[in-house]
Parts: sequence; structure tokens; C-alpha cells
Amino acid sequence: MISEFQEALLDTVGACPPTQIANNKYENVLENLDSGIMLFDSDGVLSFINVQMAKLLELPRSSLAGRNLMQILHLPELSRFKKKILRIYKETIFHRKRYHELIDEYGRHWLMTVTYGDQMDGDFLFSVKDVSDYKQIEQTAYQNDKLAMLGRISASIAHEIRNPLTAIRGFIQLLRPHLMELGRDEYARIILTEIDRANDIIYEFLNSSKPSAPQKTAVSVMGLLKEVVMLTESEALMKGCQIALDENNELMKVSIDVKQIKQVILNMIKNAMDAIESISGEREGCIDIHTVLEGSYVHICIEDNGLGMDHNTLSRLFDPFFTTKESGTGLGLAVSYRIIKNHGGFIHVDSKHGMGTQFKITLPVV
Ligand code: ADP
Ligand code: MG
Repeated sequence: MISEFQEALLDTVGACPPTQIANNKYENVLENLDSGIMLFDSDGVLSFINVQMAKLLELPRSSLAGRNLMQILHLPELSRFKKKILRIYKETIFHRKRYHELIDEYGRHWLMTVTYGDQMDGDFLFSVKDVSDYKQIEQTAYQNDKLAMLGRISASIAHEIRNPLTAIRGFIQLLRPHLMELGRDEYARIILTEIDRANDIIYEFLNSSKPSAPQKTAVSVMGLLKEVVMLTESEALMKGCQIALDENNELMKVSIDVKQIKQVILNMIKNAMDAIESISGEREGCIDIHTVLEGSYVHICIEDNGLGMDHNTLSRLFDPFFTTKESGTGLGLAVSYRIIKNHGGFIHVDSKHGMGTQFKITLPVV
């Protein structure tokens, strides 16, 4: 007996029996799923393929349905996927792995699952899903994990460094009257302020596993750059390189934690000096610093004509403890990255091996 409701339903969909309606519904769902789905029967013949899977293979479904795996493999349009398909086949059918992950030519991550066994009546169901977003989250979590580890190790390093610094500070204070007699009180003053700065840096950046919140004040970008350049000029001369600061945009201000941003720029100039030192003699070293105003952002560009970086170095640049230097810590850029992120900015790097490097720090202007 068909109920009134079912009768009405049959009228509207054109006299399909109820099971057919349900089947259509399920098929519709499968057809339009965001995962790609393919069903092979026990003879290896493709009996169903949904829209998304055909899209992924970049082929019309009509050219695939009804063919067996061998015939599909020999389709000229699929020749570029042949190796991948064979590998998936080997992993899932021979090695009986239920999952297989792959990365396509556009860098997207795909998760392939295969289902077979009693519940499938001898059929093999393959489904493919774009998992790039999950991978991204996984990678961020991994990076955060590394930063947390960095925090823990830093805490013990900080403790070890603060002790000798305290000793040095004490002795410089004892020496100060003698330096004054020689008319060199300025040296003592510089040493003391630099030791204090080092202490502050250790405290603020390394002694905590969480990024410290910036204590912001509005300052002139050019004023800040001039100060940092002054601090590094003598070391640069010793290492045989010149620092050229392009003094424009004098009035431009940024709201920053001065100590933190100074630390970032100092680190980049030091890296540039190291890169130049390692090709010493090849050409005259030059570090060019300039600013560019773009909308509500300022780019601080620090360019060197030193060694440059290869692909491997570029891809690991901001990893804590990644260094190519014998006495490097590999912390400079990891900490810099964190600081700039905390200021709502970003760092961009451009480098050519053997030619030089440009770091571009972007910060919002006041
Ligand atoms: P460290 O200076 O202690 O090695 P950093 O985090 O400051 O640590 O830098 C990491 C690595 O990045 C360096 O060891 C170096 O290989 C590379 N690098 C950074 N800046 C430059 C640059 N200007 N030119 C070439 N390589 C650089
Ligand atoms: Mg460094």
C-alpha cells in the first residue's frame, strides 16, 4: 500500500518508486562530494566515478567508466599520472595499506584511501581528498612546538650567559675611574649600556617560552636606523664592508618596541656582515639600507652583496637553531621572525647564491 504522502511524492518526481528516489539522492550526494570517488569491481572494471574525481584526473567520465585499470593506465591523457597511479596501486593493493599520501605538481597534499573487503562485496572503493589545509595546520603546530622548545632551551642559556655578563659589568665599573683618567670614559659608558642591552635582550626574548608582548612607542624609523648603523659601523669596517644608509622618509614613524626592533635590524646587519666576510676579497662588501613607504606600511630593506643563500638555506632560514656558521646560534632570525609577527608585520627574503641577499622588514606606520 502506498501512502498519500508517497503518492504525492511520486507525482512530483515523475513516478519513481521510493527506493529509486533514495538511490538518486545517495548518488547525488556521492556525485557532488568534495572528495573524489572511484569504484572498481572485482574484475578491476571502473563501475562508478564522481564529478570531483574526473576533475582531478582532468578527463571526462565517459572516457573512464566501463574500462579496467589496465585500459585506464594506457590512456594517453593519463600518461603523466601513470607513475603515481602505479605507486598507489602497489601501496594499496600489494602492500595492503589503506592510506596513501601524495603531493601534486602544484604543491597540494592529497590523501588517498582505499576500502575493500566483506562490506564492499568484492568492490574496491578509492577516495581522494585535498588535505592541504590540514597539512598547513600541522606544519604551524610543528613550528610552534619548535618555538616552545626554543623557549625552554633559551631559559637555560640565558641563565648561563647572565652570570659572566654580571662579572664583566662589575669589572668595567671598577675600571671606569682609570678610563676617566685617560679621557676614555665614553668607552666605559658604551660597554655598560651594551652589556645592559644584552642583558635586556636575554631577559626579554630568550628567557620566555612565550613571545613577550611589545612595549610600543612611536619613533622615527630613520632615527632608529641611524642609531643601529652607528653601533655597527666600526665592526663593519673591520670586516671590510661599508654600510650605506639612504636617509629619506625622515618624518615617518612606527609604533614599536624599540629594543626589540633594534635587535632585529642589528641581527640582519650582522648576518649581512658575515655573508660579506665569507667572500672576503672577491668584491668590495656593501650593505645598503633604505626604506620604502607603501600605503600604511613601511618596508625596511637591508641588502648585501655577500655570499647569498642556496635553496636549502632559504627554506630553513627561520627555523630555530638553523645555522650554517661555525659559531652561529641559528636563533637570530627565528627570534626576529617572532618579533616582527608580534608587531603585525612580516619579513620577506630574496637571495641569489653567490650574488647577495635582501631582507625586507614590513611594519605598519603610525
Ligand atoms: P646565525 O647568524 O647564528 O647563523 P640566523 O638565524 O641569524 O643565525 O641566520 C641563520 C642562517 O641564515 C645563517 O647561518 C646563514 O646561513 C643564513 N643567513 C642569514 N642572513 C644571511 C645573509 N644576509 N646572507 C647569507 N646568508 C644568510
Ligand atoms: Mg644571525
